Amino acid sequence: MSKIIFLGTASSVPTKKRDNTSFLFIRKKTTFLIDCPGAIVQKLLKVGVDFRKLKNIIITHQHPDHIYGIISLIHTQYCLNDNLNIFSNIHCIKIIKRLVKIFRLDKKEYPKIKYIDVFKTNFFYCRYGLKMRAIKNKHTKDSLGIKFSFEKKSLFYSSDTSFSLKTLQEAGRLNYLIHDCTASSSYFRKHPSLYKMHTSASSLSQHLKNTPGTKLIPIHFLLLGKAEEKRIKKELDPLKKRLILVRDFQTVRV
Ligand SMILES: [Zn+2]
Ligand SMILES: [Zn+2]
Repeated sequence: MSKIIFLGTASSVPTKKRDNTSFLFIRKKTTFLIDCPGAIVQKLLKVGVDFRKLKNIIITHQHPDHIYGIISLIHTQYCLNDNLNIFSNIHCIKIIKRLVKIFRLDKKEYPKIKYIDVFKTNFFYCRYGLKMRAIKNKHTKDSLGIKFSFEKKSLFYSSDTSFSLKTLQEAGRLNYLIHDCTASSSYFRKHPSLYKMHTSASSLSQHLKNTPGTKLIPIHFLLLGKAEEKRIKKELDPLKKRLILVRDFQTVRV
């Protein structure tokens, strides 16, 4: 059995109840942190995951809400963790390497970091019955979604992306889809620049109509508009039991 623990479910703007998007994928004894906004160590403590044993971090793109906590995370591991694998695209790797140097986190007391370019191989991780593949999405240069395949199941995390049929077709048949659901369609109409970067609840609802068997976990909510959460829920409502609406710190078994 594998599980996902959501550490944050909001977009770049957190709310009282939701912080920037990130989650853990845990299978057997291996834990992956996917995206790294702030206060990650405290979040890991809250869900009972030992931050000293965290070895694998995947960063989907170079926007601050997905990467800015990484320096603080490495800093907390002074003398506590000996190695760390960071999987990402070359732009994020460059940023992290630079920050590690600026903050002098390259001393021997800090974890030794292995950087893995996720686009170099077909599967950037393939071990103990778990395969992970990076699929380009439509957001920023070389931004990526992640396809997880395990125990005859498949899950795709779109990360931030404008709705892209091409990306979803590449991800193939899915048991679970964790997808950018930044706002309702009316919010998108009021702020059309969002179309270039993100996905509305109604586009997801429409798409899922044609893919029976896939459960949707919407994520990355921008809840600035009044009653926006209600509108998002209404647009997703036709999915009924195939919809899993999550809160921060919620666990979903997959
Ligand atoms: Zn984001
Ligand atoms: Zn982004």
